[in-house]
Amino acid sequence: MLLRLPTSVSEAQRCLSEGAIPVGGATLQWAVWQRDGFPEQAMSLREVPEANVLGAEELGAAVLLSRVDDRVPEALRGAAARVGTGAVRRAATVGGNIVGSTLRCLLPAALVLDARATALDAQGPYETDLAELTAKRPLLLSLRWRTPLASGHRKLPDAPGGEPPLVVTTAVRDDHVLRVAVRVGYDVSCESVPCATDPAPALEALSRTSLGTLPAEAWDVVREEVTAVLARAAGR
Ligand SMILES: Cc1cc2nc3c(=O)[nH]c(=O)nc-3n(C[C@H](O)[C@H](O)[C@H](O)COP(=O)(O)OP(=O)(O)OC[C@H]3O[C@@H](n4cnc5c(N)ncnc54)[C@H](O)[C@@H]3O)c2cc1C
Repeated sequence: MLLRLPTSVSEAQRCLSEGAIPVGGATLQWAVWQRDGFPEQAMSLREVPEANVLGAEELGAAVLLSRVDDRVPEALRGAAARVGTGAVRRAATVGGNIVGSTLRCLLPAALVLDARATALDAQGPYETDLAELTAKRPLLLSLRWRTPLASGHRKLPDAPGGEPPLVVTTAVRDDHVLRVAVRVGYDVSCESVPCATDPAPALEALSRTSLGTLPAEAWDVVREEVTAVLARAAGR
């Protein structure tokens, strides 16, 4: 297998059109290749500057999860910090997690931030939303969003029996919209409601969305996280 390391978006585009398979840290891909056979060529974005951005409103697909720090909103930082083990986070990338994994711990955070994705295909880079990104799974170059007033992330400890743990992610936008994303099992739902400082009306509005049917224990975590994020937003 030839591992190609393009140094620009146009070079990555050429690799794609020549059939190179995207690879991040290979924490998942390696086992798949060992099982199914190695492709002729793979491509890592680790030398492409656009895929390595890390700032208050942008995160590149080639960034290692262990490098995601407090330059990004707490929702994303917390999500990256709680993926797997230290060894996994030191190898796995943002792109491999959001596009290539089934657990996708970063997805609820990206959803509450209303992140837009820059993807690449053989025709060139283009903007897309998270729904299309996760459905069509193109090559992800980076994510972009607007800084929220406050955000938060909570992942419960692993449950016995292998069911993915509950994840609740929140963000308050400067136009007084609260966004809450919840992962139950492998399913992620995200809802938006108007908000002020008092959590009661926001929780009441949320209870009338799809999140209102969550099991009681999950709703308790939503209530705690909403209360905490609105307090942090008000304290700014
Ligand atoms: C022990 C262990 C524990 C884990 N725990 C968690 C957890 O708690 N939460 C969680 O969310 N995940 C967890 N995972 C899964 C983890 O998220 C993935 O292993 C990791 O994010 C994949 O990243 P990678 O860079 O290694 O991807 P790779 O293994 O390199 O690739 C995986 C897939 O993503 C595709 N891909 C890679 N980069 C891109 C890109 N830029 N654009 C489009 N497609 C791309 C590849 O083509 C491939 O299909 C765990 C994994 C392990 C091994």
